Amino acid sequence: MQWRNNVASSKIESRLTELRRLLQAASYAYYALDAPTMEDAVYDQLYRELVALEQSNPALIVPDSPTQRVGEKPVQGFNSLAHRIPLYSLDNAFDLTDLHSWDDRWRRLDPDLPSKVEYVTELKIDGSALALTYENGLLVRGVTRGDGTRGEEITPNVRTIRAIPLRLNLENPPDWIEVRGEAFLGLEVFAQINRDREEAGEALFANPRNAAAGTLRQLDARIVAQRQLDFFAYTLHVSAETISLALPTTQWQSLDLLQKMGFRVNPNRLCCADLTAVEAYYQDWALRRLDLPYLTDGVVIKLNDFDLQSQLGFTQKAPRWAIAYKYPPEESPTRVENISVSVGRTGALTPVAELTPVQLAGTTVARATLHNRDRIAELDLYIGDMVVVRKAGEIIPEVVRVLAELRPTDARRFEMPTHCPVCGEAVVQPVDEAVTRCVNSVCPAILKGSLIHWVSRGAMDIDGMGEKIIYQLVEQGLVHSVADLYALTTEQLIKLERMGARSAEKLIMALEASKTRPWSRVLYGLGLRHVGSVTAQALAEAFLTVEQLAAAQPDAIGAVYGVGSEIAQSVYEWFRQPANEALIAQLKTVGLQLAMEETTPIGPQPLAGKTFVITGTLPTLKRDEAKTLIEQAGGKVTGSVSKKTDYLLAGEEAGSKLDKAIALGVPQLSEAQLLALLSGETAV
Ligand code: NAD
Repeated sequence: MQWRNNVASSKIESRLTELRRLLQAASYAYYALDAPTMEDAVYDQLYRELVALEQSNPALIVPDSPTQRVGEKPVQGFNSLAHRIPLYSLDNAFDLTDLHSWDDRWRRLDPDLPSKVEYVTELKIDGSALALTYENGLLVRGVTRGDGTRGEEITPNVRTIRAIPLRLNLENPPDWIEVRGEAFLGLEVFAQINRDREEAGEALFANPRNAAAGTLRQLDARIVAQRQLDFFAYTLHVSAETISLALPTTQWQSLDLLQKMGFRVNPNRLCCADLTAVEAYYQDWALRRLDLPYLTDGVVIKLNDFDLQSQLGFTQKAPRWAIAYKYPPEESPTRVENISVSVGRTGALTPVAELTPVQLAGTTVARATLHNRDRIAELDLYIGDMVVVRKAGEIIPEVVRVLAELRPTDARRFEMPTHCPVCGEAVVQPVDEAVTRCVNSVCPAILKGSLIHWVSRGAMDIDGMGEKIIYQLVEQGLVHSVADLYALTTEQLIKLERMGARSAEKLIMALEASKTRPWSRVLYGLGLRHVGSVTAQALAEAFLTVEQLAAAQPDAIGAVYGVGSEIAQSVYEWFRQPANEALIAQLKTVGLQLAMEETTPIGPQPLAGKTFVITGTLPTLKRDEAKTLIEQAGGKVTGSVSKKTDYLLAGEEAGSKLDKAIALGVPQLSEAQLLALLSGETAV
């Protein structure tokens, strides 16, 4: 038993050493060199693992562990100065549970603490902390945070920051105050700095925060001045003996006073009565912050009352009375548990990373595409690897890089299958392509993919025919081609999972309706390689019937505007395959549009020759609907009112166009009057 314990504790010790080594190296690159080697999300995850391990093994905590200290020691080049009051970091909360645990934690410290407290919420500016000393109202020192106890004296650089007053805006300034805040670079300035560096062939800054930290530590203050650093103040230290003003007793009053003294204080702050209000502020800024001209990575929550703050004090690293509530990152480390292979409608085999699920930008991500085997080789990805995945905005999650330094010993290479994982037929690997393909035309995966594409909105737009239904239809052998969809009966559909009589009938109606889709959409729906909706439209206009297109030679197809020789060859070959010929024959029998519709005869044109302008909100019609109706009836719609305008179609809240029409004597119409004109009830 003793032996087993020893093995376990030596395993823990070696993991602790490993984590500290990785974090220390990253931290040095980040703070001292301003050139991070690790994504913040990866750093944070390793850091949390270290905290958890140390918490369960407190005897193994060492004083130089990254959990026990703030930042890095100052680097050479500047004068290192001891802070009069240490500069701490902040503890983090990553979700609402963490936020409540922080609140419970400080409340548990002393049963006599007040239960009703105020919280001040501020945006967490992603920059670099500065401590500024003012003596008798004059800026005398600016120091970086450094390792929290000592920082670098960078006063000449600080003086170049316009948002930092050189003299306080106070009648009788105190002998001494210290102001803390965040120096940062606006996003536009940051982009410009990196553009300039790229032109000069210099290494780019990874993000605005590193660029700000790097700039502050420039030895040449003229360069700093060019870089246009900005600053938001958030902490005021002042002692009772020195102040000639009423001493602030809360964070809120401090912020007001800082502003009065001439500092830029972030205006987006709030005083909250409870955590529900704090959460609402956090949610409110989740998206709004993306429109700010600088980066924020969370919300800092501080207990408002200074007495309460001093009662609670600090841990080794951070105040107990504050917490940084971080926004979910768009990047995160996670493990590739497996690599599966999916087969698309073109038969392409796509390797997909099956991930340990992670929260990314507010959604759970469990899979990420790996595109093809070349991409896997480029990433040097093994199954079992830790990777960084990213999901920015609406983009499909992708694997950004492999954390090779964290590779487990049992990680294994991935081999692209030699046979299709769906139909079992041998796959082909064209020499000049990165894609591996299944070429079995009756492969169920290809069929499913083709059907999904056929029913999609841009193609035949078959409402209610989702992926789950398609899978069942293929698996039960009811459908072998897109043409088979049109032979389905209500009785067959009702037997599918979760399908009621009403939905089945609706689906049959939707299939029926799809028979009116024009030839260009049918062509797009057939999913020929390289033929997207625009190309399909161009081809359908050039070849008015399927027979014409099927008979065309590659040269003639390639001559169509926007169609290159590769597309032409692919279209030509598609029509040469017997299975596709048979499919076209079937689709003709079904009654789909395989030719350009004859132009519809022009109906009555009651508005011929009349010019309209539309303004304001109409009671039922949208403006473009009204425009179409007018144009179909032979009228013209223009954007501005002139003497040539025959009618102004005016809705609610019509503005300057109505004024102009009145001035020019242009008659106005309501929506009802327009409809009466169109129906011929009244004449123009
Ligand atoms: P932090 O940036 O997470 O939070 C503390 C800092 O927030 C304060 O020092 C202050 O400068 C700033 N801040 C901004 N707005 C504030 C406000 N309104 N009120 C109070 N403070 C405000 O902590 P940190 O110790 O500076 O850095 C830790 C973080 O740095 C980690 O979470 C990690 O993501 C990153 N880091 C990354 C690497 C890497 O290799 N990528 C290495 C080390 C650290």
